[in-house]
Amino acid sequence: MQSLIRPTFAAAAALLVCTLCACALARTPNEIIAQDPELIPQAVAKGAWYFRGTSGVAAADNRGFTSNAGFVVTASGVVVFDALGTPALGSEMIDAIAHVTDLPIKLVIISHYHADHIYGLQAFKAAGATIWARDAGQDYLSSDTARERLTIRRQELAPWVNSDTQLIPADRWIRFGDERSIPFEFGGMHFELIDGGDSHSPSDLMLYAHEPSVLFSGDLFFTGRLPYVVGSNTRNWLGALERMAQIHPRVVVPGHGAASHAVENDLKMTYDYLQFLRQRMGDAAAQLEDFDEAYVKTDWSAFANLPTFADANRRNAYSVFLEMQAELLEAPPH
Ligand SMILES: [Zn+2]
Repeated sequence: MQSLIRPTFAAAAALLVCTLCACALARTPNEIIAQDPELIPQAVAKGAWYFRGTSGVAAADNRGFTSNAGFVVTASGVVVFDALGTPALGSEMIDAIAHVTDLPIKLVIISHYHADHIYGLQAFKAAGATIWARDAGQDYLSSDTARERLTIRRQELAPWVNSDTQLIPADRWIRFGDERSIPFEFGGMHFELIDGGDSHSPSDLMLYAHEPSVLFSGDLFFTGRLPYVVGSNTRNWLGALERMAQIHPRVVVPGHGAASHAVENDLKMTYDYLQFLRQRMGDAAAQLEDFDEAYVKTDWSAFANLPTFADANRRNAYSVFLEMQAELLEAPPH
């Protein structure tokens, strides 16, 4: 499949280049992509925008543009949230922001260290921005998982992810104490870093911009589709959703999918789904039921019409089944 896609894509890119100008043959993917109109900032509130990734899995034909990223323009410069999934997308994002404001990009805050949100970081680093992320991101950077993921992405997302693509550490690692949020001011605006807990990933971090009342949630919030739960800690995730609800943001920009302007409803959908998974799979684990049997017996009708149900639900359920088994084992004896 890969070998079929890549030559076709390369041929299409070459064709585009040749018809545009004679010198274009020497251009890099970054320069080619800069003409692509897909990366258009969408305003969500006064002073706040986001880029909406395409649905589906990262592949060469969507250039790895599957996640969202956002930015807030302050009087002293731009605060960016997430860096997208390739260095080329990071560069294109910088260009697109320059069409909105002349002010420099000062700060990039990362929702979590997963490939689709961080591979654009090197473009921001080269542009002089400071990077902040949760401290657990350090463990990811030194992990086999990170190395293996990069190797796979260099194959799957060539030429957008290649041997020049690097994993970039944060300049400041955010550590939360008992307080689950850290306020800060920048360019006359008020922001809050919010602990995502060890939920979707070990390094979840959210950003709330007070003046526009926009919460950038990373992958802890989904609109109109099932979340991807595999490998997550759903107990912590429910806690993160409760913290989000307490903020009462007017808008939430999720890590994937459309921005939510009906925050309460959308929060409830994710919350109800996680709770349902935990309750049903928790009962099955407690009664030592077989997973397949429990899955078939469960009435999924409340969620079966949602997009990604067919792709994600069974794997989500299995992951939560294992999680609930582990929770039962760690529970103190009565
Ligand atoms: Zn993601």
